[in-house]
Amino acid sequence: MKLLNKKAIVTGGTRGIGKGIVEELVQNGCSVVFTYFSSDESARTIEKELSSDSVKVFGFKADASSFSCAEDTVKFAIEKLGGIDILVNNAGRTKDTLMLRMTEQDFDSIINANLKSVFNYTKAVLKPMIGQRYGKIINISSVVGLVGNPGQANYVASKAGVIGLTKSNAKELASRNINVNAVAPGFIETDMTDKLNDQQREAILTNIPIKRLGKPEDVAKAVVFLASSESDYITGQVLTVDGGMVM
Ligand code: NAP
Repeated sequence: MKLLNKKAIVTGGTRGIGKGIVEELVQNGCSVVFTYFSSDESARTIEKELSSDSVKVFGFKADASSFSCAEDTVKFAIEKLGGIDILVNNAGRTKDTLMLRMTEQDFDSIINANLKSVFNYTKAVLKPMIGQRYGKIINISSVVGLVGNPGQANYVASKAGVIGLTKSNAKELASRNINVNAVAPGFIETDMTDKLNDQQREAILTNIPIKRLGKPEDVAKAVVFLASSESDYITGQVLTVDGGMVM
């Protein structure tokens, strides 16, 4: 077990990649508070399925784009788990449309959910992490944040912003023994990619050398590596998990 007795916050843990991350952290001995936007029922099921005598798991309803919700989450995690060693900023959403049709609201809502959320949670965990002189922060970006994508200007800008925030925070926080890294997934099988039709899927697969879409656990294993002591000398990096699509 790579994370025995560690304590983590994962944003957006009820579905897809976030749920995979919660499961992988728990399998490695880590207790977790995960957040979600609206899926109360899934949250209660995950708590029941993953909690055990050795590992605590709590769901907490909190809009990641709100700073006060981030502060409430951190307070809740400290109360329930006794501290925070690991923060995984995973919560995110899309609102795709061409730039010509994109409204100001489409842009602002995605920047707030995907980029400001990372600012919110990072700022909220800093005091406890600096106080204990230890922390691992992992931000979920996307390969489109590296290469761009038509129809996703708001999403791509948010994910490119996450990479900039990761690097800046890595430089600021290294002296406090806090590592900050990003994971950039390619196409992963979740509700977010469910909308792709067969033709789009085929087109995507031709550009993936490993010839399959990723699974949430592919991303989750990279997150566990970056959350563990195996990556103590790695900070400010973007680890791409995409079957070789972008290199
Ligand atoms: P997903 O299946 O749509 O799940 C999103 C999760 O985030 C859910 O738990 C959702 O909660 C939560 N969430 C969304 N907005 C939130 C908010 N404002 N506050 C709190 N929680 C919120 O998404 P996914 O595909 O697993 O993606 C997870 C992350 O990976 C995202 O940052 C996404 O951009 C990134 N990513 C995904 C892919 C991919 O191919 N899937 C590729 C690259 C990057 P509810 O269940 O309550 O709605």
